[in-house]
Formats: sequence, C-alpha cells, structure tokens
Amino acid sequence: MEVRICKECGFILGTRPHMKDEGGVCLSCLNKHRKKTINWEERKEWLTKHIAEKRNPEVEYDCVVGVSGGKDSCSIVMRLFEHHGVKKALLVHVMDEFTPSEAGLCNLDNLVKRYNVDLINFRCSPQTFVEETRKSFFEELHPLKWIEQQLYAKPLEMAKALNIPLVFMGENSAFEYGESPECEIFHPASNEKTEVIFLGSIWPYSNLDSLAEAQKIGFKTLSDFDDWQRQGSADDFTQIDSKGYMMQHWTKFIKFGFQRVSDMACRLVREGKFTKEQAEQMIKDSDWICDPLAKRDFCKTIHITEEEFDKTIDKFANKEILVKDANGHWRRKDLL
Ligand SMILES: [Zn+2]
Repeated sequence: MEVRICKECGFILGTRPHMKDEGGVCLSCLNKHRKKTINWEERKEWLTKHIAEKRNPEVEYDCVVGVSGGKDSCSIVMRLFEHHGVKKALLVHVMDEFTPSEAGLCNLDNLVKRYNVDLINFRCSPQTFVEETRKSFFEELHPLKWIEQQLYAKPLEMAKALNIPLVFMGENSAFEYGESPECEIFHPASNEKTEVIFLGSIWPYSNLDSLAEAQKIGFKTLSDFDDWQRQGSADDFTQIDSKGYMMQHWTKFIKFGFQRVSDMACRLVREGKFTKEQAEQMIKDSDWICDPLAKRDFCKTIHITEEEFDKTIDKFANKEILVKDANGHWRRKDLL
C-alpha cells in the first residue's frame, strides 16, 4: 500500500477511520480555511444570551462542564465565567484507574479552587474499568473505548439528573479531526431539555490559545514536574492527566500509523507554529515511540504482563504500512 501524506500539514491520509481528504489535503486543513468564514463574534454573543435564557432560578447550576483538568478544561471554565456570564457551574470529572501525573492532580485542584466551583469526581467501578479495558484491548486494540464513552456520558447523566439545562464540552472533534466539514454547535446527544454545546464551536479551537489562557490561571505542564519525562509525544501539555491513558493513542500508531506526535505536530502546522517539514521530521523521529512509563502503568493497571501486551501489538500491527526495525520496534515503512 502506498502511503499518502496531506500536502499542507504532513498527516498520513487514508488510514484514520472517518477522516476525509480532498485533492491530497486532509479535511482538518480544509476546515482550517472554513474556520475563517464563521462569524465567531456572533456565536459568542449568541451563547451569552442563550445561557441567560436557559437559566432556571429553581436549579442550582447554570451548566455542567465535563473536565479532565487539562488546558482545555481550564480555558472552557475561564471563558464561561469571564466572558459568558455563567454564575454557577458544576464540574464533572471522570477518573480512570491509571496513575495520575503530578501535573494532572495539580491542575484539577487549581481549577476548582480558582473558580471556587463544585466538582463531582466520578469514579467508575474499578473492576468494570479493568474488565472493559482488557476486553477492548485484546479484542480490537482500542483499549480505552469504554472509559472514553463515560467521559461524554457521565456529565450528561449528571445534568439530566439535576435538571441542569446545559452541558459544555471542548473541541468539536469531528470538525477538528477532519471527519465533518460542519462546525456544529450542538453535540448530537443534545435534546430540548439538556443541550450539549461544544465551546470549540463558539471560540475557534486552538491548542496554543487554550494553553496560553490556561497558563494565565496557573496551568502546569509535565515539564513543571519530575515524575514523567514523556516520550512519543510532541508536547508536554496535552493529554497529561494520567500515565497509562497514553496507550489509547499509541495503539493507534499500530493500527493506523499515527499517534500523538502526528496529531499535535500537524495541528501546530495548521496553527502556524511549525512548518510541514518540521512536523514530518518530528513524526519520523518519534511518533513510533511507546512511552515506557505509560506502558508499564497500563499493563499493571489492567493486570497483564508486558509480554502479553507486546504479543497483542504484534497481532494487530498494520503490516501494510508498518514493519519491525532491527530493534524490534514497529515503524512506518515509508519513513525508514
Ligand atoms: Zn492536513
């Protein structure tokens, strides 16, 4: 199979499920141009009015915000309070069973204190987490499928149970990851009683803006601590909350030939920070690397050995685009 690369950002084409491309350009890049045609100021004004209209004096909270504690969570909460007149928000954080990073713990704590908000730290049954993660790891190499569903489901369930009219989430991932050309405001799970809104459809989503805003309120990156010198990643500020979670991303490299380095480096090309050539070099150098600490944490948490892990990886490796190098690492054939 011949590997195709996006002409604008350098992302691998044709392997990511649901990701579309036209004329050698990925839909994420095409959507970058579409973003310029959206009237963001109008959307922001609409949201401020909408929050006021939806406010119910008999309900304690204006909205629920699904948070991880990451930079996007900080920036969402900040924008809601400081720009859109939210008076009381309930944050819902869904825990996983992996080892949290020091940065992750510090950031969630800081966010809650900074805005003096109520937080539900939702811990799903540990045994169910382990069973579901093992099942989707061994059966389809999609280890965190179940917990990712919970990340969306729990904030919505909490909102419904407490009659809270609005739920906020971050980026509109179908738009940002090139699956849809429409930057829809409402999540498909919305209904009349409980609306789920992507804040990334109100403010144009940008990793760097989100990071800068979060740092204004004390957000820390992995580099601020010593517990995790992460490998196989192009940055120290995304998906930093827990260690084993990284395996959700790295396993995508095994199936589709890309993971976090591709995702982030190509996004930063779209955001004007890197050139396509810089992104391609970073992808070649490190997208294939499996972070050893994350792998160990993942295996320990779901009670499997690293040998069992490696065997499953070999079974699912996409041999059309990957080959093992002399050191036994799966690498993209086109980049060797
Ligand atoms: Zn692209």
